[in-house]
Amino acid sequence: MSDTTSEVPGSPEPASDQSTEAKTVLVIEDEQALALGLRDALEYAGFRAHLCFDGGAAAAAIAEHSPDLLVLDLMLPGKSGLDVLRELRAAGNKVRVLILSALASEEDLLAGFQLGADDYMKKPFSPRELIARVEARQKSMETAEQEDQQQRAAQWERLRQHRASAVARQTMHRS
Ligand code: CA
Repeated sequence: MSDTTSEVPGSPEPASDQSTEAKTVLVIEDEQALALGLRDALEYAGFRAHLCFDGGAAAAAIAEHSPDLLVLDLMLPGKSGLDVLRELRAAGNKVRVLILSALASEEDLLAGFQLGADDYMKKPFSPRELIARVEARQKSMETAEQEDQQQRAAQWERLRQHRASAVARQTMHRS
């Protein structure tokens, strides 16, 4: 997270701003041709994209890349996408998740949403459609970040007022 509040007024914009702002997407998908196509499409759309082909390697890949968004296939070798998601949530990781499902099984999708998946796409889909979904998720992430900042600012303001009134009370008691 870049700290814009401490910026010196009038200082030039950092040249690498765009690259540091790029969201990271981790695609966990064992169909390599599909995964490689998604990586190209994501990078073309300005995201940083990483690939993982095995459910058993997902946790390590997530730890390595700390993605802003997971694109998660459900049917994976090593470990199912649902198990990957279940373990992630059990560990307290709240990363946004877009599920890819070839099963078109409502039960699996329902289980995914109960585990906090944010969106899903049924295969087959076009990369363009996926990019649209990912960009929509990114927008909602940015909105959530802005709301977080506003909430923090409001909390600080309440804290400041609370302290000010506490100091005022102390002063009254002393006098
Ligand atoms: Ca698969």
